[in-house]
Amino acid sequence: MPELPEVETIARGLAQRVTGDVVESVWLGQKKEPLKSPASEIAATLENSRIVAVRRMGKHIVFDLERSDGEGSVRPTHTTHAKSQFIVHLGMTGRLQVCEPQSEIAKHTHAILKLASGRELRFVDPRRFGRLSVARDGDFDAEGIEPLEVELDRFLALFRGRKTPIKSALLNQKLLRGVGNIYADESLFRAGIRPRRRAASIPRDQLEKLFLSVKEVLKEAIDLGGSSTSDYVNSDGEEGFFQLQHRVYGREAEACLVCKTSIKRVVIAGRSSHYCPTCQK
Ligand SMILES: [Zn+2]
Repeated sequence: MPELPEVETIARGLAQRVTGDVVESVWLGQKKEPLKSPASEIAATLENSRIVAVRRMGKHIVFDLERSDGEGSVRPTHTTHAKSQFIVHLGMTGRLQVCEPQSEIAKHTHAILKLASGRELRFVDPRRFGRLSVARDGDFDAEGIEPLEVELDRFLALFRGRKTPIKSALLNQKLLRGVGNIYADESLFRAGIRPRRRAASIPRDQLEKLFLSVKEVLKEAIDLGGSSTSDYVNSDGEEGFFQLQHRVYGREAEACLVCKTSIKRVVIAGRSSHYCPTCQK
């Protein structure tokens, strides 16, 4: 599943390629699952809209749209429905491709947006956990707080009185949005906190370390272009991710890079958690 850094990388790649382009027409497949908004609404919102920005919110890719009159000029933004959004969640296997119209249409293509530049933006998703939706008044807001933007006081407040394991709290998208399993494990390792510790029991100085390590791990991964372990494809349709060197994630029974203790794996809330029993308390 693409995590925040992969989604950030994909959104940045798309922003470079499609910002300023106009959606001329939309084809949507027959499968219902990928469409979170009605097909007619998705098509009506996208057609004749100019893509003014592409950005990441949590693990969503948000295309900010402005109505275009079809001649390419944009009406003033204060007119009704002048601003709307196209929102893509990649799910497990979703990907967005920017390609030439003659390039072969991949199996499991669920949406094709024809762009005024002559190219196409395609959504492909074999397992169909990805979701496409539109917000017609441009008011889409993902749940939770953006981990790269959250300030220390708000971060500390998220865990106050919370009796769940810190790992579960980090994965709770209503608290921080977009922190997934890999980056939660890596952040906890760097902060020296065991994943099973109750969030409320962790002293302030350790939470301050966690605050820094969450941001550090996500930023490092974004700088590397995400740390995919499987088949993500960048917005050109090419495989293009480098891997952040995981210090604990996926390293069960291997030696800790700091102290040589065997890395342990436990299951918390159904997810594998990896930690060093010596470095993490
Ligand atoms: Zn260690």
